[in-house]
Amino acid sequence: MSAPDRSPLDAVPGDVIDLTASDVLAVVRPEMTVPFVDLASEHHRYRHQLDAAVAGVVDASSFVLGEAVERFERSFAAYCSTEHAVGVDSGFSALELILRGYGIGPGDEVITTANTFVATVAAIDATGATPVLVDVDPATHWMDLDQTAAAITAHTRAIIPVHLYGRVGPMDPLLDLARYYGVKVIEDACQAHGAAYRGRRAGSLGDAAAFSFYPSKNLGAFGDGGMIVTDDADLVERLRMLRNVGSTEKYVHAVRGFNRRLDSIHAAVLDIKLGYLDRANEGRRRAAAAYTALLEEAPVTVPAKAEADEHVFHLYVIETLERDGLMRSLGERGISVGIHYPVPVHLQPAYGWLGHGPGDFPVSEALAERIVSLPMFPTISVGQIAYVVKAIERYFQGVRTWT
Ligand SMILES: *Cc1c(COP(=O)(O)O)cnc(C)c1O
Repeated sequence: MSAPDRSPLDAVPGDVIDLTASDVLAVVRPEMTVPFVDLASEHHRYRHQLDAAVAGVVDASSFVLGEAVERFERSFAAYCSTEHAVGVDSGFSALELILRGYGIGPGDEVITTANTFVATVAAIDATGATPVLVDVDPATHWMDLDQTAAAITAHTRAIIPVHLYGRVGPMDPLLDLARYYGVKVIEDACQAHGAAYRGRRAGSLGDAAAFSFYPSKNLGAFGDGGMIVTDDADLVERLRMLRNVGSTEKYVHAVRGFNRRLDSIHAAVLDIKLGYLDRANEGRRRAAAAYTALLEEAPVTVPAKAEADEHVFHLYVIETLERDGLMRSLGERGISVGIHYPVPVHLQPAYGWLGHGPGDFPVSEALAERIVSLPMFPTISVGQIAYVVKAIERYFQGVRTWT
């Protein structure tokens, strides 16, 4: 329970599990603003540690790779239960370098979903391989397994499932399929730090996995950053060269490489933030549970129920046919919301050359018209959640009967 001198509305969801939905909705504030994410309030919780981490890098004045990156690679590999981790400069680079590390390029096919952030497909494209798109399951927004099986050809080298919004889908059947055909499974875990499947962490499930540390991700740097995790020591050796202009030792360039290194300042900050990740994810889960409970009667579709450890709610996404009107109304009431994503990859101008058109991936297309992401961050308060729910309720009272 929250401290007596604070309003219950200032509590975070974990504090007030004994308040009922009607208690909360009865006392909701008439007007407030709710940001979509609030990184400052999360950082404020352990600001002195972050400042000390940054100061440590300045004191050492070693800014690229080095000790701070190695330390964080060890912590992150341990967190994911993998043998190795290789720090890179973004989630995009993580995906691209894994593919290149496996020798995937022109003439090869890589299967992923039309309903993802465009970077998944852009990373495949960057290697020269051909992205092959499939639709998603309407409830979990995860790769459709039947379509994935049907998309496998003699040219398929890898499958990239995307743990969209922080939910891991049915990895075991996908892994069985991939093993049968001898193709790699590369997890796009860019939204799923700390998520799990049958007790195994995202990142440890496939052959290799890509994480992004873009600031608003569940684990975010003070700028761009990314990580590859894997148990494959040979792959790791190639990745360490690829990220650093192909170099094994200074000025010895064994392979054609790139500059995709992780900066020390991000590694130092991320190492501190990793210690708070489970708590932050628990805050997200409780916030999601609060939204779901309070929206029970609303004419919207809430996220499909997930196993306890499966979902880390990078985003809390609801569906409604009144999406555009609802978004406008929430905006007028000071609530920031988003759409992830408004145009499926196959309908993006950049990927017209894949030859798809409207109707090719009907689930992804329908979702793009109906989805809206509500404010979601670990420190969101019960009062903020209640205000959002109340605003949704008011909108639907205006357009149709609230059942
Ligand atoms: C963020 C994200 C990426 C790309 O990560 P960057 O660090 O921004 O390059 C890739 N895939 C998904 C699903 C993402 O959410």
